[in-house]
Amino acid sequence: MKLDNTPFLPPDGNVYVMDSLDPTKKIKVEVLKKRTKQHRDIVESLACPVCGSAMEWNRAWEAFICVKHGKKAIYEIVNEG
Ligand SMILES: [Zn+2]
Repeated sequence: MKLDNTPFLPPDGNVYVMDSLDPTKKIKVEVLKKRTKQHRDIVESLACPVCGSAMEWNRAWEAFICVKHGKKAIYEIVNEG
């Protein structure tokens, strides 16, 4: 069975990411674009917490990736709790 890695928007609309190079920090990020599928909101684009560039979902990495501020940054969505 294929795992569903779709980046769903949490019910409260707050999205937190973790920098894969610094997993100790949880960063709140701005949702730039979302879409609705089967009554659930899916995050399509997030603002990079460092440079503000739009980051698209990367299915292979299962993360949002920014290449705009120097070193490639990989941000995984984490739960708020
Ligand atoms: Zn960036």
